[in-house]
Amino acid sequence: MAAPNFDRTELEALLSKRFFYAPSFSIYGGVAGLYDYGPTGCALQTNLLTVWRNHFVLEEDMLELDCSILTPAEVLKTSGHVDKFSDFMVKDTKTGDIYRADHLVKGVLEARLEGHLLAKMGKLGVTGGDKKDAPAKPAGKKVKKGTVVAVQLSDEVANEYQTILAQLDNYDGPGLGDLITRLDIRALDTGNPVTPPVEFNLMFESSIGPTGQLKGYLRPETAQGQFLNFKRLLEFNNDRVPFASATIGKSFRNEISPRAGLLRVREFTMAEIEHFVDPLLKDHPRFAEVADVKLRLLPAATQLAGGSDITEVTIGEAVQSKLVDNETLGYFLVRIYKFLIRIGINPDRLRFRQHMSNEMAHYACDCWDAEIQSSYGWIECVGCADRSAYDLSVHAAKTKERLTVQQPLPEPIIEDVVQLTLNKKVFGPRFKKAARVVEDHLNSLDESQLLALQTQLATGAEVPVVAGDGNTYQLDASLLTIERVQVKHNVREFTPNVIEPSFGIGRILYSLIEHSYYLREGDDAQRGVLSFPTCVAPFKCLVLPLSNAEVFNPTVQYLARQLRRLGIAAKVDDSSASIGKRYARNDELGTSFALTVDFQTVKDQTVTLRERDSTQQIRQPVDQVLVILKELIAEETTWKDVVAKYPLFTAQEVPQ
Ligand code: AMP
Repeated sequence: MAAPNFDRTELEALLSKRFFYAPSFSIYGGVAGLYDYGPTGCALQTNLLTVWRNHFVLEEDMLELDCSILTPAEVLKTSGHVDKFSDFMVKDTKTGDIYRADHLVKGVLEARLEGHLLAKMGKLGVTGGDKKDAPAKPAGKKVKKGTVVAVQLSDEVANEYQTILAQLDNYDGPGLGDLITRLDIRALDTGNPVTPPVEFNLMFESSIGPTGQLKGYLRPETAQGQFLNFKRLLEFNNDRVPFASATIGKSFRNEISPRAGLLRVREFTMAEIEHFVDPLLKDHPRFAEVADVKLRLLPAATQLAGGSDITEVTIGEAVQSKLVDNETLGYFLVRIYKFLIRIGINPDRLRFRQHMSNEMAHYACDCWDAEIQSSYGWIECVGCADRSAYDLSVHAAKTKERLTVQQPLPEPIIEDVVQLTLNKKVFGPRFKKAARVVEDHLNSLDESQLLALQTQLATGAEVPVVAGDGNTYQLDASLLTIERVQVKHNVREFTPNVIEPSFGIGRILYSLIEHSYYLREGDDAQRGVLSFPTCVAPFKCLVLPLSNAEVFNPTVQYLARQLRRLGIAAKVDDSSASIGKRYARNDELGTSFALTVDFQTVKDQTVTLRERDSTQQIRQPVDQVLVILKELIAEETTWKDVVAKYPLFTAQEVPQ
C-alpha cells in the first residue's frame, strides 16, 4: 500500500515538528477529528487552493460564491440531508464502544484475509502485536488491538470475503447487518458481539437566534448555497447555460469514528463546483482538448464482479463506449486528474472509481471518485457526480421559485395538450376553504387521468374525487372544462442538470504530503525531504548567511527585501545551526530553493542558489540570481535549464 520504506510514524513526527497541523484543543485533551493547521500547513493549503482557483475558477470561467455555513433546517430537509445524510453504526454489546458498520466489516474481513495469508505461508500465530510467536487463536475472538490471527480459510470463503470487500460501498444498513450476523463479525478490539446497525445522522444541529425556534445545522457540504443562488447566478450569466459556480469553504460532519489523521475529520475545507448544463446537451465545448488523455478507471462492473483491476483508456473512448455517461462528466474527470498531477500527486497512485448502483444517490446518473493511494489505502479525495436535476427541482417545488432556464426557441413549437380550465365563479363558492386542495388535486392529474375525468363528467353525472386532505368532493361539468388544445411555445423551459466535482482539501493535502516525502542520507542520519512542486511549496526560498558574522547582514537583508518585493514567500534562517542542518530543516518544510551568503559574497556580491531535490548549486551575482529565482518560481524555466546554462558550484565554504 505505502511507498517502499515509508514509515508513517517518522513522517508524522516531521509534520508535527514542522507544525504542518496538530490536534485542536490538545492542551485540554483534544477532540477526535478536529485539527489546527500551523504556519506550514496554512501556507501549503493556501497555495494548493490558489492552484485550484487558477485551474478551475479562472481557467473555466466559473462564478465563485461564499455562502453561509449555518443553514436553516428547512433547506436541508428539502435537500434530503435531514432524512438521509447518515452512516450506519454498531455498538460493542459489552463496552458500548461504537464502530461505523462498514468500517468494522472491512477491518474484520481484512484481518481474516491477512491471517489466511499468513497461515498459508506457514506462519501460524499472532502477528502485528507484540506477541509475535503466540499460538494461533480463532478469528473473531478477543485479540490485542492491531494483531492478526493466522487462520487458514477455505479458498471459497477467502474469495467470498474478497468479493464482499470489493463491493462493500454497495451495502446498505440491513445488508451490513446480515453480513455481521452471517459472518460472525465482532468488535475489533474486544471480540464482543455487536448490535445491529442503526442510522446515525452526520449533521451538527444548532439553533439560530435567541429564541431557539429556528432550527439549523452546520452545512455538511457547500453545494446547497450554490443551488439556492441559482436564479441570481443565471441572471449574472445572461440567462444562459452551461455555467459553473464554485465555492471553497468549511463543511462539518459528525463522523462516527474520526481517524486516519486528516482523512476522516469532523470539520474540513471543501472546494465544490456545480456545473449547470442543459439535460439534452451534455456535450462539452472543450472536450476535444482532453479526449486523448488516458485515465486509470475502476468501473462499477469490475467491482461487482469482485475485482479491482484498472482499465486504462482515453476519456474519449470511455465516453464513446458510455462507460462514462457524458462528455461534461468526462471533461471534469480529466480536469480533476490534471489538477491533482499539477500539485504533485503521483499518477500511478491515482485512480477513478465508479460508484455502484446502491452507492449512488437515487437521482444521480453516474458518479466517479478520484481515489488516491496512501499508507491508509485507496481514499476518495474528490467525488464527481452527475446529480441530474434533483437539487434544483426539490428546492423549486418547496419554495415555488422557478429554478429553470427559459430559452427562446429558433422556431415556435406547436404542441397538443389537454387543458384544464376551472370555472372560478362556481368553483370557489362551491368548495370554499377546500377550493385550494381540490384545485391542487386536479392539477396533479396527468393527461390520461384528465381525459378519463372528462368522459365521466360528460355523462352529466357527479364524479367523486379524493383530494390531498383525504376528503371526498363531488365534481360536475359546471365546475370545469377539459379539452384538447394546441399551444404555441416560443420558449423552451427546463431545469438544468448539475455535474458536481467535490474536493476534500485536507485529504488531498495529506495524500500530497505522503507522495512528496522521501528520505535522504544526511551527514549524521537520514533526513526527511518533502519534494513539493514549487507552486504549492509552503516557502519558496530560504535565505541563510554562512554564519552569524555581522558582515553577511547587509546582503541577507537586501535579499529578504527583494524577495518580499517580488512576492516570493521566503524565510531567513540566521540561527547558529550548521549550514547542513539548516538546509535539512528546510528540506523538511519542502522549501524549494536556498540562497546562501558567504565570504565570497562579501568580496564579489555573488551568492549560491541551491535546489532542494538535486541539492545542486550555482553561483551568480545577487541580482542575476534573483532574476533566475523569479523565473523558476513562475515556472518560466526549470532547474534543468538553469544548470545547463550556468556552471554548477561545488566548492563549499566553511564558517571562519
Ligand atoms: P462527499 O460529499 O461525501 O462525496 O464528500 C466530498 C469530498 O469531501 C470527499 O471526496 C472527501 O474528499 C471529502 N470528505 C468527505 N468526508 C470527509 C471527512 N470526514 N474528512 C475529510 N474529508 C472528507
